[in-house]
Amino acid sequence: MAHLPILTAPDARLKKKSKPIETVDTDVRQLMDDMLETMYAAPGIGLAAPQVGVLKRVIVLDIDREDVKTGPLLMANPEIVEASDEDVSYEEGCLSVPEHYSDVARPAKVTVRYLDRDGKKQEMACEGLLATCVQHEIDHLDGILFIDHISSLKRSMILRKLLKARKEKERDEAEGKPAPDKKDKQTAPAI
Ligand SMILES: [Zn+2]
Repeated sequence: MAHLPILTAPDARLKKKSKPIETVDTDVRQLMDDMLETMYAAPGIGLAAPQVGVLKRVIVLDIDREDVKTGPLLMANPEIVEASDEDVSYEEGCLSVPEHYSDVARPAKVTVRYLDRDGKKQEMACEGLLATCVQHEIDHLDGILFIDHISSLKRSMILRKLLKARKEKERDEAEGKPAPDKKDKQTAPAI
């Protein structure tokens, strides 16, 4: 297994629509395994293939909270086949939008259909944080970030800050300064 570099916004690859998987073969399984390891190391609770620069419809999740424990979930071609009328709002974060969080309203319950690691068709009813994560990850496959769900004013502010942080990081790296440890600052799970 390998750690893959995670793209951060703004990046044109995060805005593209990903292609469906034809068959879950060895390459797809390898991608799933690498993505899972990359997600655990980040640390995050969800990751979509475009976040590691692969424009294929693959997502991985593992939610381990007091109320929801899913274990590793590996999904190819995930699609929402049913969604509740009732919405719920969660404070979302994203590994591709580091250190920024915002409330996003989405359907509270969804049913997702997907192919598992063995290429078998599966259907799963999701609610709570799992429903939010699945929708957040499927959005990635359509080139949508959680900041696309918030006001354009707040979105441009976040993108400006991300660009500034990227420039500072590049400058620090060029000057040989060590990277600050940012893991303690997280307030919401990064998906
Ligand atoms: Zn994300």
